[in-house]
Amino acid sequence: MSRVYNFSAGPAVLPEEVLQEAADEMMDYRGSGMSVMEMSHRSKVYDNIIKEAEADLRELMNIPDNYKVLFLQGGASQFFAEVPMNLMKNKKAGYIITGQWAKKAYQEAKIYGEAVELASSADETFSYIPDCSDLPITDDMDYVYICENNTIYGTKFKTLPNTKGKTLVADVSSCFLSEPVDVTKYGVIYGGVQKNVGPAGVVIAIIRENLITDDVLPGTPTMLKWKTQADNDSLYNTPPCYGIYICGKVFKWIKKMGGLSVMKQKNEEKAKILYDYLDESKLFHGTVRKEDRSLMNVPFVTGNEELDAKFVKEATAAGFVNLKGHRTVGGMRASIYNAMPKEGVEKLVAFMKKFEEENA
Ligand SMILES: *Cc1c(COP(=O)(O)O)cnc(C)c1O
Repeated sequence: MSRVYNFSAGPAVLPEEVLQEAADEMMDYRGSGMSVMEMSHRSKVYDNIIKEAEADLRELMNIPDNYKVLFLQGGASQFFAEVPMNLMKNKKAGYIITGQWAKKAYQEAKIYGEAVELASSADETFSYIPDCSDLPITDDMDYVYICENNTIYGTKFKTLPNTKGKTLVADVSSCFLSEPVDVTKYGVIYGGVQKNVGPAGVVIAIIRENLITDDVLPGTPTMLKWKTQADNDSLYNTPPCYGIYICGKVFKWIKKMGGLSVMKQKNEEKAKILYDYLDESKLFHGTVRKEDRSLMNVPFVTGNEELDAKFVKEATAAGFVNLKGHRTVGGMRASIYNAMPKEGVEKLVAFMKKFEEENA
């Protein structure tokens, strides 16, 4: 067996221990005589898996009792529509545009009502987080929306926006479980799990109970109504059973590591190794304003497209894969999620140093 260092933005690296455990249980899950892939989502065995996953997530994130945890399908992109469908009572909401994913959510919301751009960092290619201390939020807005960590551009909100009392909705796809969060500051926290938590196909949404009602926009499909999912404990129809099972294992892995504050400390250590080098390198440099840097997604460039391509090619050959930047921005991006070991980042930096010497 030979595994690479996988710096993909998503689907992304998972903890080896989790993969090994899943492999061990593949043919016969704990004496059930079948794989988790083959069992009824209504069985006692599966009920334990999903209930335990929820309990572990609640413990990790310290989720208060007045929040529901939903395991959904459709990716984060489908949730872009679910937000206005379920929350736009006044048909008006504010969006902070810090990158492509926020922009897509904003454009989707426009289908359902008035989506207002409250702030944007498009003027400098989304390389920073705009000042959100005094936004033009009006009383009739149903919610304020952010993408908390910008997977493509590598920025992260270090302080949450002042929503002036409005419900905060956050897409946390690429920073889920990377550090402790105060759930009570949000109305809705959601993300696709394929970045930092599990295999593609699951969306986790943590929603304050008073936001889950029958009062949704006319025409909202049954499946996309949060009330349907909440009333049925995410088992209205067949959920993404196997994906949820793997997420559950990742939750246990994080608990074993010491929880979210330890995760944060490890993530800071890893990111520092890479950012410190980018700051001193004469060849490579980061593309993001320092105070807004993400711990998870680290974009960088040489300033020369040919050299970028050469680097990506040589890195791939050396076992550092998926370092090519997003197709819309070019350059490189190293995604260093929870499951990327520190050693992977150290070796990447050593490789970059060598490349810098050879190409000086
Ligand atoms: C990847 C990503 C998405 C899109 O996720 P899908 O599950 O492919 O729809 C949305 N938001 C963020 C922040 C992402 O990183």
